[in-house]
Amino acid sequence: MTDRTPLVAGNWKMHGSRAANAELLAGILAGQPFKCDVAVCVPSPYLGDVAQALAGSGVAWGAQDCSAHEHGAYTGEVSAGMLAEFGCRYVIVGHSERRAYHAEGDQAVADKAKIALARGITPIVCVGETLAERESGQTEAVVKRQLSAVIHTLGPCVGEIVVAYEPVWAIGTGKTATPEQAQEVHALLRVQLRAATQRADAMRVLYGGSVKPDNAATLFAQPDIDGGLIGGASLKASDFVAICRAAG
Ligand code: PEP
Repeated sequence: MTDRTPLVAGNWKMHGSRAANAELLAGILAGQPFKCDVAVCVPSPYLGDVAQALAGSGVAWGAQDCSAHEHGAYTGEVSAGMLAEFGCRYVIVGHSERRAYHAEGDQAVADKAKIALARGITPIVCVGETLAERESGQTEAVVKRQLSAVIHTLGPCVGEIVVAYEPVWAIGTGKTATPEQAQEVHALLRVQLRAATQRADAMRVLYGGSVKPDNAATLFAQPDIDGGLIGGASLKASDFVAICRAAG
């Protein structure tokens, strides 16, 4: 890690209840102060509750997706403008679960990132290869293709986003990329970003995929890993706090 302030963002996915969320947030807030930036990305119905619970704290909140459209006949979708009205700070776009289960392509992900930025929300853009892609030697080509769509759509504004490298085979599987495997891809992404924006060295590139308290420190110690996107371990306050400490 360099002088970039790390970011640790929790991705609650489709978990939680009002009571469980209140307990989880209280546990996270009790872990303050953090030396890194900390955020939780929560299911849409809970955005208001979470915004209220975190108001005035050092913990930011975000959403897990937004529409690629401003408004219109898109039943079930939530626009970046709506999220912005609540003061949303981050939005995850292009998570592999959305790419896989909702057929989101590279251009749709890039469009979402653009619309989020236009509304003052920092997109956390996920890229990552499947196991089959890794095993057939396509990791570099896949992540570069995914990031390239965002670079072409945003132009130099790409410097405003957060990137998350999340190898699909490591998400929710308990299999973590080794620090060396992760660093190798992060370094490639950094090189690609440098060609697109002068801000590349100030940008956060997060690692995600079965990050836990016992592997976080070695991952975050890699020179191009600037924090993490945390799924399962973000649902337990003590684990999430421990991961935040590992980044600070
Ligand atoms: C994720 O959902 O972004 C993620 C990284 O999940 P997990 O930490 O559970 O692998």
